[in-house]
Amino acid sequence: MSLARGVPWIYGGVLGATGMIMTVFPQGGPCLRCLFPEAVEPGRATEGERAERAVINTVVTVVASLQVTEAYKILLDCPAHNRGLLILDLWEGSLTRMAVERDPACTACTVTA
Ligand SMILES: [Zn+2]
Repeated sequence: MSLARGVPWIYGGVLGATGMIMTVFPQGGPCLRCLFPEAVEPGRATEGERAERAVINTVVTVVASLQVTEAYKILLDCPAHNRGLLILDLWEGSLTRMAVERDPACTACTVTA
């Protein structure tokens, strides 16, 4: 929807004590599909798998705070956007930035470029 409407999207995901965010700019990518070419089918996990993937509540607030901060940067037209994928692990106390390159074969952002 972000790519189709040409508006930035700030992805956020959590699992266990880990989280990740990625800001997607439709005018130039990369997009989330460049990073994950295959979509995960919703509801595919078994009950046991879902129990193993419980989310610690504090990671949700940290990821949400990072997403809102990215939104502020976009609204204020600040050039210091988060580029790439930001991965955090609250249990380990780590924050890692992973570069994400645009996939020239991406079927999502290549169409809108
Ligand atoms: Zn893409």
